Amino acid sequence: MTEQLEPMPTDWRRALAIVAHPDDVEYGTAAAVATWLDESREVGYVLATRGEAGIDGVSPQEATELREREQRASAHVVGVSLVEFLDHRDGVIEYGPALRRDLTAAIRAHRPDLVVTINHHDTWGGTAWNTPDHRAVGRAALDAAADAGNRWIFPELADNGLLPWDGVRWVAVAGSPYPTHAVDVTEGFERGVRSLLEHRTYIEALTETDPEAYSRHVLHQITGSAAPRFGDRPAVAFELFPR
Ligand SMILES: [Zn+2]
Repeated sequence: MTEQLEPMPTDWRRALAIVAHPDDVEYGTAAAVATWLDESREVGYVLATRGEAGIDGVSPQEATELREREQRASAHVVGVSLVEFLDHRDGVIEYGPALRRDLTAAIRAHRPDLVVTINHHDTWGGTAWNTPDHRAVGRAALDAAADAGNRWIFPELADNGLLPWDGVRWVAVAGSPYPTHAVDVTEGFERGVRSLLEHRTYIEALTETDPEAYSRHVLHQITGSAAPRFGDRPAVAFELFPR
């Protein structure tokens, strides 16, 4: 595909990344987050799970704490201090009103202009099947951006002080097979690599490759695949849904 990617909107102050697992943000998006923070924007992370089912050789009980720690360290590398976990069960997140309500609550609490989420499509492109957790969280985040503005959908949230927020102007989907926009991450690239590298235990279980070489390779692949459609600059691509 040779169609060019548009630059992401820049007239916003606050973004909230809503993903399924520790490391979802670090597969590319974190390099964009670093760039956004350089521009004095605010970014927070909300994770549906603690990724406790992510490491074959480590029990969920042990992995919970370990992956939370690695996620907080990853966020710290790019300058994000707001990291929240919703404690859905890793691997079996259910799309439905309960998930939408939790994401709506997060959006109302943090009042972002931009929501960033993970690929909600069935595949990553071609026949590379996506995971059920990503599909569920991505779809629910797209839905919750609207739910957050409607006081009658989850009225119990307003009773708890979470007043409607109809200020989400875009939802940007990372890892989509149908990207429309991109962010130049020339400046954020190295922090993106180090941010992914903080998931060291997870990466060591995933691959024989040295974790730093792996992280750099992954970031080169992600940012290199968007580059030909974005002036040959290293870039992170998103499918943008304006509201
Ligand atoms: Zn994931």
